[in-house]
Amino acid sequence: MATTQQLQLLAPLSGVLMPLDQVPDPVFSSRVIGDGVCIDPTSQTLCAPLAGVISNLQHSGHALSITSEHGVQVLMHIGLDTVNLAGQGFTRRVEEGQQVEAGQPLIEFDADYLALNARSLLTLMLVVSGEPFSLLTPGLIAVEAGQPLLRLDACEQGADVAEQTESGPAVFSRPVSLPNPNGLHARPAAVFAQAAKAFGASIYLHKQQSSANGKSLVAIMALQTAYDDKVQVSAVGADAEAAIAVLSELLLAGCGEAVSTVFAAPASTPLAPLSQTLLRGVCASAGSAFGQVVQVAEQHLDIIETATDPRREQATLQRALGEATQALQSLGENASGQVQAEIFKAHQELLEDPSLLEQAQALIETGKSAAFAWNSATRATAELFTRLGSSLLAERALDLADVGQRVLKLILGVEDRDWVLPEQAILIAEQLTPSQTAGLDTRKVLGFATVGGGATSHVAILARALGLPAICGLPEQVLAVPAGTRVLLDADQGELHLDPELAAIERLQARRQQQQQRHQQDVQQATLAAVTRDGHHIEVTANVASLAETEQAVSLGGEGVGLLRSEFLYQQRSVAPSHEEQAATYSAIANALGPQRNLVVRTLDVGGDKPLAYVPMDSEANPFLGMRGIRLCLERPQLLREQLRAILASAGLARLHIMLPMVTQLSELRLARHMLEEEARALGLQALPKLGIMIEVPAAALLADRFAPEVDFFSIGTNDLTQYTLAMDRDHPRLASQADSFHPAVLRLIASTVQAAHAHGKWVGVCGALASETLAVPLLLGLGVDELSVSVPLIPAIKATVREALLQDCQALAEQVLNLESAEQVREALHRHQALAAVTSLVVEN
Ligand code: PEP
Ligand code: MG
Repeated sequence: MATTQQLQLLAPLSGVLMPLDQVPDPVFSSRVIGDGVCIDPTSQTLCAPLAGVISNLQHSGHALSITSEHGVQVLMHIGLDTVNLAGQGFTRRVEEGQQVEAGQPLIEFDADYLALNARSLLTLMLVVSGEPFSLLTPGLIAVEAGQPLLRLDACEQGADVAEQTESGPAVFSRPVSLPNPNGLHARPAAVFAQAAKAFGASIYLHKQQSSANGKSLVAIMALQTAYDDKVQVSAVGADAEAAIAVLSELLLAGCGEAVSTVFAAPASTPLAPLSQTLLRGVCASAGSAFGQVVQVAEQHLDIIETATDPRREQATLQRALGEATQALQSLGENASGQVQAEIFKAHQELLEDPSLLEQAQALIETGKSAAFAWNSATRATAELFTRLGSSLLAERALDLADVGQRVLKLILGVEDRDWVLPEQAILIAEQLTPSQTAGLDTRKVLGFATVGGGATSHVAILARALGLPAICGLPEQVLAVPAGTRVLLDADQGELHLDPELAAIERLQARRQQQQQRHQQDVQQATLAAVTRDGHHIEVTANVASLAETEQAVSLGGEGVGLLRSEFLYQQRSVAPSHEEQAATYSAIANALGPQRNLVVRTLDVGGDKPLAYVPMDSEANPFLGMRGIRLCLERPQLLREQLRAILASAGLARLHIMLPMVTQLSELRLARHMLEEEARALGLQALPKLGIMIEVPAAALLADRFAPEVDFFSIGTNDLTQYTLAMDRDHPRLASQADSFHPAVLRLIASTVQAAHAHGKWVGVCGALASETLAVPLLLGLGVDELSVSVPLIPAIKATVREALLQDCQALAEQVLNLESAEQVREALHRHQALAAVTSLVVEN
């Protein structure tokens, strides 16, 4: 059984004591690293506050930790941002692993040098193992080095991060090169450990042969990482995948430190053009509505800072946490959809985060009230998450603030204010929380607009699940729009019109009605063939990644599968699927289509930006230009051969086609064909399935006339073809509007590919996102494309657009467009064509 023992910590320096809250560095003031004291030093030798082992001594000599025999861990950090001094100004008097006595000199420092070259001399002594402590002399201002300073209850077993107990297969991140100029020193290590603690999974950080518990700040610091070191994160447990995603993103972004990588570059949001009557944001949930403004202000809560009975405060906190858990559970159970249920489940998990609780409990022990302690702990962590430059963690911060508020109200006994909502309410808020959003009365609320949030935030997801139009990212002026103002929320365009004219309202309502009618009609006619008005048939197939999507595609009139992204079978798992599992999946998908429909299976397109946990890959500076797709598969032929064998097991169940991604050289095609032939022969198959390639690298498009004789078909991947033709990362936030597949350069490559294929009697499909745009349909028809493989929900709309087209017109349009200069000009020409076609079809109908 654990026994407790009282320990005294000595002042490590002489100087002036300062409350941690006043330290001008959020990592320390938020107590993310741990609670403790700050000293503005007047002496220049850091001494041991307690006896123990030097568990970590940073190479730069500015920080060290001591672990006592009771497991108490104390971190000392001399000055702020002193890691940048790279050891200058510090003289180490001890070594890592050495046993030291209380009061023993540890590090000498040159205060003048530090004062001139670092941000501050403020020195921290933090109890990172989390034991509560108190000042031996309350109200003390100045201390002498070696003077007894703190009293703390040490548990024999120590309170360090519990040994990890999760079992199961480990999921590994891809290797990450650390962007931090000084590796993971105290600040980024604390941020990483804090983020890791938000997950239930056991988490380890690996550097070469060494590993550290990812939830332990000291263990991470002890890895002694440096700039550009390759590290990997591994996780075991239910939320391992999510942990890996978040933590590797965090590492890449510098764990809260300003680093110069493309990932950390803040997206420059252009100032929203603002006029008296129009405010712009971004679409969080599509649709539109007309209604009146209801401003949702955050409820003001009065929090008293101190309390007299810590035991009562601890009990109050526990009671509130219990009630909040119950409320979230019932919200989850009564949620109208899976998405809502998952969000409330995630909130429940946040409540169980041990580090939040530890922070709050430690504050209560220092005499703070439960409300103050809980509020400080949640706010500090949420603020930290927001500052980290990771969109995923920023969204987690919103959830944390929401949960924080829920518990706080329960502590204070404050009832949620019932909103008295008028009819046709459009809610406007700085930020709506998921709890508020889920509780909305959708009979009265028609939509909402917020300053904060993003298109991928939980609030946006909830809005979509509720079918409510929503805009986020509006300028702050929106909060000053008086309640009752009539507004038109055009989420599709990301616009909020204040006091709109009647004509604008009518236009919008008409557009909405038309869109709904058109959608219903398209779905009703989805099984009709996609034949143009002058009798030209084009195949409309689906892009899928699962059996469920394939079945949905068939029910929506899909004439086959033009792109099965086979990666879904291999990603998000820590071990490779067995042959039986692979074969069963391909066969089930083929069966769902039947022998009359095409099934185009694309071989693995992983590598680079899409790593596989069980295939070790080197990290690459330019993953999009690295070992991707067929390149990776040919380098690991066993992987490709196993996949080919599994795909071949479905031969005969559907019209099987195999497609190779990222092909650049003819030799790649030839090698893959050779393997396919060998595998088919080994299985005793008489007929080979069709073999084609994706055209998504400009080299392949330019050499299409050489590839054409050796393939059965081409499918153009416009997403990658655009990225490589325009030299613009397809996921780059600031290039999103320019990386446009309507660019004439991309269109010319499509045109020449089609010409080369047809000259050899081969068909050409388009499976990139361009095929799913109704605006592009006449153009692709005009360019001679034979098949459009589109995203499943859009099958009916694309088929209907084909049925309205006249091939002759489309050909003239394509010819005209190929001579234009820019994507904008192409879009304009296509819009004009669309408008003209709409008028013509009206005339024809009447
Ligand atoms: C493409 O690049 O257009 C394509 C369809 O492939 P993916 O989007 O899967 O890379
Ligand atoms: Mg691609």
